[in-house]
Amino acid sequence: MTFGERIRQWWLRLRCPTEFLCDNCRYDHDSACHRRERPNATRCPDYKSK
Ligand code: SF4
Repeated sequence: MTFGERIRQWWLRLRCPTEFLCDNCRYDHDSACHRRERPNATRCPDYKSK
């Protein structure tokens, strides 16, 4: 993992206190997100907090 990715993970973790990003993501429903990772994504470029 590059330094930039580590910073990004740290920032996501600050913004999202739950174990899985999806639990706190506004796209966490079938019509909004078709990612295979859902609902257990721990890294996601599309994550947006609720
Ligand atoms: S966009 Fe990413 S974080 Fe959000 S629900 Fe989909 S997989 Fe989860």
